Amino acid sequence: MPAQPRSGLWKALRVAILLVVLALVANTAWLEQRRVHAWAYTLGVGIFPVAGDTSPVTRDYVAALDRSAFAPIDEFFARQARAYGLKLIGPVQVTVYPAVAALPPAPPARGGVLSAVLWSLHLRYYAARRAVVPRGASPAIRIFVVYHDPALTPRVPHSAGLDKGLIGVAHLFALPSMSGSNNIVVAHELMHTLGATDKYDPATDAPLFPDGYGDPSQTPRYPQTSAEIMAGRTALSPSTQEMPESLEACRIGRASAAEISWLPR
Ligand SMILES: [Zn+2]
Repeated sequence: MPAQPRSGLWKALRVAILLVVLALVANTAWLEQRRVHAWAYTLGVGIFPVAGDTSPVTRDYVAALDRSAFAPIDEFFARQARAYGLKLIGPVQVTVYPAVAALPPAPPARGGVLSAVLWSLHLRYYAARRAVVPRGASPAIRIFVVYHDPALTPRVPHSAGLDKGLIGVAHLFALPSMSGSNNIVVAHELMHTLGATDKYDPATDAPLFPDGYGDPSQTPRYPQTSAEIMAGRTALSPSTQEMPESLEACRIGRASAAEISWLPR
């Protein structure tokens, strides 16, 4: 049966091509991380708004977005860099780019290494095609901010970032009163793209002690007065926590600072 060996050969060839692509992507990602972790210059962060639905509320919100909506992110990273004695005064600088018409690929519903790898390639391809930069150099980090009308989507999908991949997707509410918590989600995903890991219990959302606490050495320990950015919530007691209102009440903890090379590991 001639079809059999040929299809086997074709399958092997496809696997070989995929492995070569993955090796190239992994090598590029490693070089990128080495470059950005040197913190020798301000990292450009491109914000690419996307309307997550066809609601006029979302459309008007996206149309009105400008740099001022995201300025607290620059200020948060500058404040935290100062606290860690980083020489760079402004580690990141946000620029808002024109809205993107197509939605980013949804992360796989189920786990599994292969689907995660394929999604990461799909997201890279989407970013390469859709993150159009009208002029100047491309930003080092690209975050797609997908807005939803809360009347249509009371619970937004999970945000996701390529671990150390410099591309993130943040799902946000198209509401001016949510801009403080929206910026927390963007800063959290930005930290993921730089290699920081989550510091909360996914089953309960409780911040993990000590790395997920704003100030693990605070006495008394509860209630905490700030949230660690990779935990995203302020621990009020060992089993209760609340969302902070803005980045003013967030910190980059020592473990996250080490993951993004602000401290030696
Ligand atoms: Zn996370």
